Amino acid sequence: MHKDGTVLVAGGGGFIGGHLIKDLLAQGYRNVRSVDVKPLDSWYQVFHEVDNRILNLQYADACEEAVDSVSVVYNLAADMGGMGFIESNKALCMLSVLINTHLLQASVKHQVSKYFYASSACVYAADKQVSPDVIPLKESDAYPAMPEDGYGWEKLFSERMCRHFQEDFDLPVAIARFHNVYGPEGTYDGGREKAPAAICRKVIQAVMDRNHQIEIWGDGRQTRSFTFISDCIEGISLLMQSDHHEPVNLGSSELVTINGLVDIVEEIAGITLKRTYNLSAPKGVNGRNSDNTLIQSLFGWEPSTRLRDGMEKTYNWIREQMLGSIETQPESVPDSA
Ligand code: NAD
Repeated sequence: MHKDGTVLVAGGGGFIGGHLIKDLLAQGYRNVRSVDVKPLDSWYQVFHEVDNRILNLQYADACEEAVDSVSVVYNLAADMGGMGFIESNKALCMLSVLINTHLLQASVKHQVSKYFYASSACVYAADKQVSPDVIPLKESDAYPAMPEDGYGWEKLFSERMCRHFQEDFDLPVAIARFHNVYGPEGTYDGGREKAPAAICRKVIQAVMDRNHQIEIWGDGRQTRSFTFISDCIEGISLLMQSDHHEPVNLGSSELVTINGLVDIVEEIAGITLKRTYNLSAPKGVNGRNSDNTLIQSLFGWEPSTRLRDGMEKTYNWIREQMLGSIETQPESVPDSA
């Protein structure tokens, strides 16, 4: 990948997109274009040396403008969030198919040399995730297809479309299935946040309010693995430098229960909270982990940031944001944080 060519990051105002742009700039890419539908002041990270554009990439003409003169495309744009969002916004999630469709078409037209698609562990068949005692999911477990309704179907369809654009139109593609990416500079409130950020926020709030209570979605026994953002960015880079074009798991294999995740955050905060369990809240599948045999065999590498270490960085960043927003509203400062 030539560092002088123009690189498009679609969804550059989002969590992973912002970190990706930071990494591309650090690697020496000089011509980066970042496109997002949100107004600039809502982007998680803004880099002023980048060609920042506000466009709705669901439209073909917007994709045409975004991809014009571009040599590499990263498609990270999607209408998405944690379980609370995707379980109640299935149609909105599926409309992201328009983004990938139009970006692929524009990429063929402009003879893009490499196209990255951000897929998800939500493509995996639900019947392989019914028990917390998981067998890690390997790439072939996505078929026979029965993914997460709405969001997962869109991801599976779109990664399949990337495959056929490579086969039929010679567009080189790379596809990563992200497993629960977390870290600083992402969403932690408002309804789209995922479990690691939501738990940090709830624990910080409990400390601030001195109420020593936390509500957990589900029974807390559901298992997951969580991938720190720096591992996600490193994995994207490795994949983009390779010729591998089939979907690859990009996720940590450090399995934890949601209760275990709360234990970690309580330990970071130095507090023990009374837990209540909301059994009617969306909780997703019972168990999921990433089988990393393929990524290991391709690169001799897999995500390795310890959950405790990544969560500490995430917790500290969210705490700074929450304290910062209180400082701008003096009347709501608690007597002690
Ligand atoms: P994010 O919501 O922070 O970023 C996505 C960005 O896409 C947002 O800034 C949003 O405004 C933008 N976007 C949405 N619709 C758009 C449109 N029509 N035109 C232009 N921009 C649009 O999410 P993220 O966590 O950074 O995720 C990036 C990608 O990775 C997404 O495709 C997501 O589905 C995928 N993914 C993320 C995770 C995770 O744990 N974060 C897991 C699996 C897959």
